[in-house]
Amino acid sequence: MEKSKLLERENLELSKNINIWHPYSQHAVDKAPILIDSAKGASLYTKEGREIIDAISSWWVTLHGHANSHIESSICQQLTKFEHVMFAGFTHKPAINLAEKLLSLLPDVFSKVFYTDNGSTAVETALKMAFQFFYNEDPNTRRKKVIAFRGSYHGDTFGSMSVSQRDLFVDPFLHALFDVEYIDPPILGFEDQSIFQMETILKKQQSACFIFEPVVQGASGMRKHSVKGLNKLICLCQKHGVLTIADEVMTGLGRLGPNFAIDMLNVFPDIICLAKGLTGGFLPLGATICQEKIYSKFFSSERKKAFLHGHSYAGNPLACKSALASLELLDSKKCVKQRKFIELQHEKFLTNWIDHPKISNAYVLGTLLCIEYKSLEKSSYFNSFRDKLLNHFLSENILIRPLGNVIHVLPPYCIELKQLEKIYRSIEKTLEKDL
Ligand SMILES: *Cc1c(COP(=O)(O)O)cnc(C)c1O
Repeated sequence: MEKSKLLERENLELSKNINIWHPYSQHAVDKAPILIDSAKGASLYTKEGREIIDAISSWWVTLHGHANSHIESSICQQLTKFEHVMFAGFTHKPAINLAEKLLSLLPDVFSKVFYTDNGSTAVETALKMAFQFFYNEDPNTRRKKVIAFRGSYHGDTFGSMSVSQRDLFVDPFLHALFDVEYIDPPILGFEDQSIFQMETILKKQQSACFIFEPVVQGASGMRKHSVKGLNKLICLCQKHGVLTIADEVMTGLGRLGPNFAIDMLNVFPDIICLAKGLTGGFLPLGATICQEKIYSKFFSSERKKAFLHGHSYAGNPLACKSALASLELLDSKKCVKQRKFIELQHEKFLTNWIDHPKISNAYVLGTLLCIEYKSLEKSSYFNSFRDKLLNHFLSENILIRPLGNVIHVLPPYCIELKQLEKIYRSIEKTLEKDL
């Protein structure tokens, strides 16, 4: 047998490792995972030399590309000093510098950064902050409920699941989720409905907070909202003393054009959650960032008013250094240019195809290209068209993980023109032929 064939077979055996239970996988029917050996820029490589273009930044985490040398050397620098220290009673420069950098990129109203280690825990932290904000004010507070959008996704832990869309993903856990009041998101043209539902809930004066993915709902199918509608909803909450939480875990860090999706709004939320691309995709890190008015409710001579919450890896110095290096890149002229370049290419591609009969909806927002295919089946994760799309793109060596019958391209900012063109050609094929 040829050497490369042997290697391929060997790697396939390795990838079928029976000790590992992968996330979001049904191992009885799914193909064996692909064994990645190295990665650079927007590409993943197998040992046999297969190159796969990472069109979705590996679940939206890779920001400037894989194996970015600036981030790499920044982490190495920290490695020569120390790797970790507990974050209660201790602090360090990477965490201090990162908090300063984050606050400098955000509107002035934000003043405190609380570190966690992923998106779900950034959301848990925000929810607990909101609940305790009212509890510290009055232990008998009536404000105990959360408002969220239908079709939202905020994570996989119990709190974040509770505020997410109630669907097949959470069915086995419904009994253990807390009560949430859902409203329709302010889709362009349907804002009034959403505003009316919000007003009705706010009148009851039982809500502590409203959590939302600003401007685009990610995991549930890249649903875009009216900025005007969202502004109005936040204003209403502010008027009624309800805290607002922007979950920027997907939208943050330049994905939709500006550094943060809230930069498109003319009102500011009280709390924002960051994770995913925060370290550029190198290490897990989350941040829950709040306004001073939140923090001041916890700042007291009474110990019990403290925020008694934390994670073992909170503020990990390696992750903080990685994030600092990534934010330096994000802030550079080069990165702004790259993001604009991606947006222009997306737009150029979409203008030619937007009226195609197989497309029911499509848009470009910043570096995000989103296409919804017309489907006879209800749009869902288990849509059979999804598997066909996934297999088509993988057979073309492109990593695009469809969300039901919706696909999106959200690439690392370093992606090159020829790589984008390869992705577009591959999307064109889905329109031109039957999968
Ligand atoms: C992915 C995601 C989360 C959860 O982040 P994890 O790091 O996977 O826990 C939360 N909110 C939004 C909007 C996300 O896209």
